[in-house]
Amino acid sequence: MMLMKAPGEFLGTEEEYVPGYGSYQDGSSIHASLLGDLTVDKERRMNISTTCNVPIGIKPGMVVYGRVEEIFEPVALIRAQPIGTGRERQVIDQFYCVLHVSRVKMGYARSIRDEVRIGDIIKAVVDEISNNEIYLSTKRGGMGVIKAFCARCREPLTLAEGQLLTCGRCENQERRKLGSPYGRI
Ligand SMILES: [Zn+2]
Repeated sequence: MMLMKAPGEFLGTEEEYVPGYGSYQDGSSIHASLLGDLTVDKERRMNISTTCNVPIGIKPGMVVYGRVEEIFEPVALIRAQPIGTGRERQVIDQFYCVLHVSRVKMGYARSIRDEVRIGDIIKAVVDEISNNEIYLSTKRGGMGVIKAFCARCREPLTLAEGQLLTCGRCENQERRKLGSPYGRI
């Protein structure tokens, strides 16, 4: 089984595993140093394969839809695809990118979990491509979460007054860095 890991994420302990390509040891624990899929070989070596190379055609300024797959403070791991029905959509398959807390909104964001949650659908712009990773930004107006799910019961949240998201089932209320239009996807 392949598991997507982010830089810094805990992979295992030295009692059980050996650090391999794309991982490092810190004390007795082994962490990922690259974004990619974790595999463990016969020698119990933990390797990260960077299958998430930047696809041809991804450029800064491109607008994408994405789903929040994982959150490891201070980043969210996003599975994205370009918006549009043109050639880009056909050529470029889904790809992984990173949304760092510093690129979520204008002003200060304390925690990435205050702005996006796992499962949320976001609209974002490709901000920068470096070190074989794609960094998204949702700072621009209209960029952000366009569909969110209740943390308690997973029901889609609806947008109420005052930018609050409300669950129709359990009445839970949550906040996000909202994009627009919200809820029409
Ligand atoms: Zn709910």
